[in-house]
Order: sequence, then structure tokens, then C-alpha cells
Amino acid sequence: MAETVFEGGCFCGAVRFRMHGRPMFVHACHCKDCQRQTGGPFVVNGLIEADRLAVTQGSPQITTLPTDSGYPHDVVRCSDCGTALWSDYGRRGWMAFIRIATLDEPGSFQPDVHIYTRSKLPWLPLPAAARSFAEYYDMKQEWPPESLARREAARHKAGAKR
Ligand SMILES: [Zn+2]
Ligand SMILES: [Zn+2]
Repeated sequence: MAETVFEGGCFCGAVRFRMHGRPMFVHACHCKDCQRQTGGPFVVNGLIEADRLAVTQGSPQITTLPTDSGYPHDVVRCSDCGTALWSDYGRRGWMAFIRIATLDEPGSFQPDVHIYTRSKLPWLPLPAAARSFAEYYDMKQEWPPESLARREAARHKAGAKR
């Protein structure tokens, strides 16, 4: 079965990428780090296996940022315009957090959960039906079983512990 391909890229057009298939899960993250890093009220990240992402044009560069967890946060950016395209939280290597608004069709995916709403900007209402969490959430409770299976498969394939 052929999977849907989603195209995206940076602001200046130097870097283009393809995402094969839908993300496993989508976060709207309202944490202060995401607010400062994007300059916006929240970021929308799609969690996807790294091997489903392919750079089709240009050569992005990595910026490493510190996090509260102590694990590095690698941000993949266009080296010309600096647009952040996706992140590898914790330098896992096998999972990417793609910034959904860098897709050519940024409305393709809605957030499954809103997280770190303790720092949500006060003027921003969330949809009444939104699943929202003051901090993080229990993955096994919130992810659909097929996404959990995909995540486990990717982790095993990479031989990773976390
Ligand atoms: Zn660019
Ligand atoms: Zn965040």
C-alpha cells in the first residue's frame, strides 16, 4: 500500500523535504522553551519515525539546544534562512518532531493533545474538546494502539533503549 507523501520546506526554499505517511501523534506544545524558540504562542510538532523523513533538496544544519531533561535537543534548520524544520529531542536518532507548519499544507494535521498548558498564553482559548495537559501526559493512555506499535517498531529497529 502506497503511503501518502507530504511535502514541506523552509522559508527561503533552499531546503525541501518529504514526509512518508502521517505522524504517529501530534503535539501542540505550549511550553516556554517552544514559545521562545518559535516566537509564537505554541508549536505544533508531529512525531514521526526519522526514516520516514527525507531531505529532497538542500543541506540542513543542526543546532543543539539544552533542555531541562539534560538530554540535548537537536534542531534541524535551513542553513540559509534558519527556519527550524524538525527536532530530535534527546538525540534519539530514530524519531523526529516535525514542525507541522513547515508543511506545504500546514492544516494537514490537527493536534492530538495540547501539552504544557500551564504556560499557555492567557488570551488563547483551546477548543472545548481538546485533550490538554498542564505538563506532559501518559503516552500509553493517549496514543492510538497503531501509533504505539509504530513507535515500538522504530525503537527496536534502531536498537534504542528509549
Ligand atoms: Zn531556507
Ligand atoms: Zn515545548
